[in-house]
Parts: sequence; structure tokens; C-alpha cells
Amino acid sequence: MIEKTLVLIKPDGVQRGLIGRILARFEDVGLKIIGMKMVWIDKEFAKQHYTEDITIRRGEKVRNLLLDFIVEGPVVALCIEGINAIENVRKMVGSTEPKAALPGTIRGDFSHVSFAYADTKSQAIKNLIHASADAKDAAVEVKLWFTAKELHTYKSVHDIHVL
Ligand code: ADP
Repeated sequence: MIEKTLVLIKPDGVQRGLIGRILARFEDVGLKIIGMKMVWIDKEFAKQHYTEDITIRRGEKVRNLLLDFIVEGPVVALCIEGINAIENVRKMVGSTEPKAALPGTIRGDFSHVSFAYADTKSQAIKNLIHASADAKDAAVEVKLWFTAKELHTYKSVHDIHVL
């Protein structure tokens, strides 16, 4: 029931100065940040993160745009732990397309671009966050981005008051 999930604050979130406000969202609900680092990845690493699975689901063109976008600047990688963390984080992040993402979600509150607009500019949709989709992806992605030593076990106030 207690899960770990991978979250990335993508280059648009870092460059817009939203790191702190995004982190606060996760801290506010009592999810625990157990790993955190800023990394500027290269294309080879990006391909390990955005695998052929993206090609199958979204097509080759979208994958290539995404690979260009994710290496444009540093990202903040987070490993977040909590009850049903994968589902809870996805709920807080909101829909892939910012235009459709509801107010109250991170994408809905901080972005509004549409797929159609991103298409006219031939760019990946800038939606601030990546969050693991399911348990299988979370296991692979946490392992890809963090070594065991980079993940920490500690008690937070939520362990006493929320859990
Ligand atoms: P999510 O990040 O919400 O799990 P996906 O895994 O399907 O969504 O897609 C990965 C990323 O690819 C999205 O977050 C978005 O940045 C980008 N993307 C997806 N579909 C499109 C599209 N049609 N046009 C531009 N960018 C897209």
C-alpha cells in the first residue's frame, strides 16, 4: 500500500521557477520526499526514460519531440513515497494536456497549452511534470533515476499525525 513513485519537474517547471511551489504541493498532502536531485540528462539517458513505449502510445514524432524537450535544461528528479503514492501523485499532476487539466491540479493551475497549439509549434507539450504511470513503470523509473543510497528512510510528522 505504501508506494514509491518517480516525479520529474521538467525543464519548463525548473526554468519557470516553479520548483518550490511544486514541491510544496506534495509536501502539503503529506507525501514524503525520499530522494531529490537536479540533473541535466543527455539523449542516451532520455531514451531510457522515454522508451519505445511512448512510440507505441503516442507515435515516433511525439517521442522525438519529447526527447529534445527533456534535455533542454536540468530537471528535478524526486522519489516520492506514500499511501498509493503513484495514483495520488498522478491525481495531483492532472491530465496530460494542460488545456484539459482541472484547476487544483499542478498542470491545471500552472499551464494551459493545448495539443493543437503544441502541434503548430512542433514541440512536445510543456506540462511541467512527469509522474510514473503505474507500479511497473514506477519500479523501473525509480531504479533508473536513483541508486539505493540516494533514497532515504526517515520519520516525518506525517508518520505520527497522518498515517
Ligand atoms: P503523461 O506524461 O501525462 O503520463 P504520456 O506518457 O502519454 O503522458 O506522454 C509523455 C509526455 O509526452 C507528456 O507528458 C507530454 O509532455 C508529451 N506528449 C504526449 N502527447 C503529446 C502530443 N500529442 N503532442 C505533444 N506532446 C505530447
